[in-house]
Amino acid sequence: AFQIEELRVAFGSRPVLHGISLEIPARQVTGIIGPSGCGKSTFLRTLNRMHEFTPGVRIQGRVRLFGEDIYDPKVDPILLRRRVGMVFQKSNPFPTMSIQENVLVGLRLAGIRNRSLLEERLEEALRMAALWNEVKDRLHAPGTELSGGQQQRLCIARALAVRPEVLLMDEPCSALDPIATAQIESLIRDLREHYSIVLVTHNLQEAGRTADFTAFFLEGKLIEFESTKKLFTNPHQKQTEDYLTGRY
Ligand code: ATP
Ligand code: MG
Repeated sequence: AFQIEELRVAFGSRPVLHGISLEIPARQVTGIIGPSGCGKSTFLRTLNRMHEFTPGVRIQGRVRLFGEDIYDPKVDPILLRRRVGMVFQKSNPFPTMSIQENVLVGLRLAGIRNRSLLEERLEEALRMAALWNEVKDRLHAPGTELSGGQQQRLCIARALAVRPEVLLMDEPCSALDPIATAQIESLIRDLREHYSIVLVTHNLQEAGRTADFTAFFLEGKLIEFESTKKLFTNPHQKQTEDYLTGRY
């Protein structure tokens, strides 16, 4: 899905990513692991130009999405973000909005008014996010009324409603209990059939259970990128091995 070449990110004079080159496969789950502060979230945000409003940020290198340079001045960042959806660690539903409006907000911003189309997308997104059955009788209740795990699925539905090509997820389970986590993880595996997914997690078990490929980051560098199975059972780099065995 993405071809990333020599990506460098600095905040002011402080470099945070030091030249990352990586190809993220389509219709697979790619996990990004590494210790706190190694640049996982910073990296993820470069994939849909979320750094646009960060003051003092400098981005160099190239990011292509299905062949297209996303930093080309001709690319509209708003349209780009419809193609590349994002879900955060604690993606809160918009508090003043109902469940339904939370899902539809992206489509409304895109100017879609056709009621039957909106209804169709609402159900499609909530079903994809494995939330439809739980909320179909209370679509007008506030989104914030849902449980933590349901809120997280609501935010996934919100991201899916615009039919993105890629889904970026930054620690989507870290605020959830084990049952809600298992639900989201199983959802991520199901979504892989339709989407290319990049999943940032500091939870190694979660990467092991969910990701097809895993990239290990350390201090702003990509140390190793492999199929998850290979990376976990037979890492090539000493640093990867040290991290996997808890030596960081
Ligand atoms: P965690 O696992 O704790 O979420 P991470 O791997 O996601 O960590 P990042 O959030 O990408 O790490 O941060 C990488 C480095 O960049 C950190 O040193 C952080 O302080 C710095 N950083 C991130 N965002 C900014 C910003 N907006 N301005 C200045 N420095 C930043
Ligand atoms: Mg982070």
